[in-house]
Amino acid sequence: MKTEECGSGVSRRNFMAIAGGAAGLAAMAALGVATMESESQANIRQIDVDSMTSQEHETDILVVGSGIAGLFAAVKGHDVGAKVLMVSKGRLGSSGQTPFAKGIFAFDPAKEEMSVDQFVAAVSRSALGTNNPVFTRQLAEHSLERVKELREWGFFASPLYFNAFNKPLEERNIPVIERVMITHLIKEGDRIAGAAGFSFDDGTIHTFRAKSVILCCGAGGFKPNGFPICDLTHDGTVMAYKVGAKVTGKEWNDGHSGKSDNAADCYGGWHGMFDRKPGVTGVGIRHDLGMEMNYRAYVKGGPLAMGPPGRGGDQEKISGGPSRPAEFSENKRRPGPPPGGGKGRPNGPPPGMAHGGSSVGGSSAGMSIHKAEGLVPINAECASNVPGLYAAGDALGSYMAGGIYTQIGSSLAGSAVQGAVASQAAAKYCQKVALAAIPKAKQKTIE
Ligand SMILES: Cc1cc2nc3c(=O)[nH]c(=O)nc-3n(C[C@H](O)[C@H](O)[C@H](O)COP(=O)(O)OP(=O)(O)OC[C@H]3O[C@@H](n4cnc5c(N)ncnc54)[C@H](O)[C@@H]3O)c2cc1C
Repeated sequence: MKTEECGSGVSRRNFMAIAGGAAGLAAMAALGVATMESESQANIRQIDVDSMTSQEHETDILVVGSGIAGLFAAVKGHDVGAKVLMVSKGRLGSSGQTPFAKGIFAFDPAKEEMSVDQFVAAVSRSALGTNNPVFTRQLAEHSLERVKELREWGFFASPLYFNAFNKPLEERNIPVIERVMITHLIKEGDRIAGAAGFSFDDGTIHTFRAKSVILCCGAGGFKPNGFPICDLTHDGTVMAYKVGAKVTGKEWNDGHSGKSDNAADCYGGWHGMFDRKPGVTGVGIRHDLGMEMNYRAYVKGGPLAMGPPGRGGDQEKISGGPSRPAEFSENKRRPGPPPGGGKGRPNGPPPGMAHGGSSVGGSSAGMSIHKAEGLVPINAECASNVPGLYAAGDALGSYMAGGIYTQIGSSLAGSAVQGAVASQAAAKYCQKVALAAIPKAKQKTIE
């Protein structure tokens, strides 16, 4: 894959390779790059089951997913000596939610007005105690290091993340298998023994023998209208649940907004995020993101238009609603700058939605606010209750920020931090166990 920057002079094929699939086509159109249907990479719609072939792989750590959690899981596991393999049903850096996120949180103790303790206490207060402070603290303590590494890899130089993600993987020779959808986790005895899935391109069935698997599969939604979670269908959670992992948080309706017009056009609604370069956000705690808007929708019986005061949207005051601690009252909000600089807009739609049209709240059913769904961790190292099975980022129900979204930027940083923590723990686990044999009969059944 060529690593050319998107923009003038980029060839269509290279851009498609970088941006990937439907999002790539839409992004190209938005950037004024001509598209030709015949050159795009289509999924095969029919597979002749009898002529499918099989491939086997062996590794210490299998990282499933190639968003920012997967990136750090792969790099950090490798750096502490484990053999790592990454597999993803999407493109590296261009699939899942990661390509849309353009603000990343970095807590610099030397520069912030508050200490880490104060930050953790404030998030806990804002979340009314629904957060897990261990993961809140981990975010604050590790985020700056992850952001520094991203900067070294060129993350802040482009709206597209493939180049920056590919750099450390290529430097370390970490194999990445794309467009393979993992469908099964394999357990032998009481512990994880690998995973299996199939290729979108040639009908090959891939079986991975692994001492440890880290699920970095992102969140999930049943009705992703308007909020671009598109290909995220709870896969990691379902696979893990089937092998006995505890899961949490699938009963919510995510507070992110979509558009009232062409509601299913996720890219159309959110390309303002996709197309901009990332930036570092402030660490001030926000209590408002999605809260009142969702409550209004709940009380009034449907998604509601929203907008800054005096600029349209449903501003009608309703009684009751989520409790707002006094210190987070409206006049005391101190939002950090939005990604890419500029002024914060505490009452308006999120940055990606700020251009034109009318935004509606609560558009993704079956998805919780970031980090409040997925596998239940049994410790601070992102381990699940199934030995050898870890999860990180949106795939882990860490309750890093509890039932609210404390600040734009914490989710991307949280995924990066947890990816690193999970794989360092997985690498240690791998030193104590041998690769388990997967019985042929079990493999055949899965195939
Ligand atoms: C529009 C939008 C704007 C956002 N803005 C911000 C922001 O500004 N700041 C911020 O902090 N956060 C933001 N977020 C949230 C942030 O993007 C996510 O929390 C974060 O990117 C999640 O990263 P992840 O690596 O955990 O998961 P994801 O990025 O979702 O990655 C999941 C990966 O798993 C793969 N996968 C899934 N299932 C399978 C399977 N069965 N087999 C193989 N591979 C699989 C996917 O293809 C993908 O590669 C935003 C999200 C959206 C949608």
